[in-house]
Amino acid sequence: FLEVADVRKGYGEGDAHIEVIKGVSTSLEKGDFASLLGPSGSGKSTFLNIVGGLEPCDGGRVVVDGVDITGLSDREVGEYRRAELGFVFQFYNLIPDLTVCENIEVCAHLSEDPLPLDDLLRSLGLWDQRRKFPRQMSGGQQQRCAIGRALVKNPKLLLCDEPTGALDYQTSLEILALMEEVNREYGCTVVVVTHNDAIARMSNRIMRLHDGMLVEDSVNEERVPALSLEW
Ligand code: ATP
Ligand code: MG
Repeated sequence: FLEVADVRKGYGEGDAHIEVIKGVSTSLEKGDFASLLGPSGSGKSTFLNIVGGLEPCDGGRVVVDGVDITGLSDREVGEYRRAELGFVFQFYNLIPDLTVCENIEVCAHLSEDPLPLDDLLRSLGLWDQRRKFPRQMSGGQQQRCAIGRALVKNPKLLLCDEPTGALDYQTSLEILALMEEVNREYGCTVVVVTHNDAIARMSNRIMRLHDGMLVEDSVNEERVPALSLEW
């Protein structure tokens, strides 16, 4: 469902050139929940951004559900990304002067096949918050809204970069439980970047980057439900 073949990426010119992703290959099945681990600077965000078409790579291929996104023009990859992929970041990136409902609705319009808004608001636990603005909500509620924005498009891939990085322990568990539910109920393929090995225990696939190379790419047979994770 997701095929990544020998992806390479560097930054800078001449002597200042550094290789950040050094030939990474992997694949995911539809419905996989993958964790991407690795120390700071190992290339996790860069890799996620390449998989999601936010950044071009210098070599290799990324194929999402049969579409070779590395073979598309900038404009085409932008269209594909906005319509078919969902992103969640550490800092929620909500539109400050739109309500919860409106924040999600603007993203629904990007897709030909959006999820029903009311159902989604309820399953995100945001029904009662739907008329609030981002500044009127807690971090956890804002992250729920950000997940709603990504999810309403019914995306082929949900790509999350440290989605609980700014949240306290209990709220992190709740957000992870929501992502688990999204993966199960909507069959959405999820990739979560995290520093936290404990979080990886909830995923069925574990990948680890070190210095731009994939040093672990394994199946986790003993998935732990998010609400039972401890760290
Ligand atoms: P963290 O856990 O701290 O978020 P990361 O694993 O996500 O780290 P990346 O952000 O992918 O790491 O960065 C990998 C390397 O690429 C780092 O050395 C970083 O300095 C470099 N890098 C990332 N983006 C750029 C850029 N736009 N220009 C130059 N170098 C960059
Ligand atoms: Mg990062």
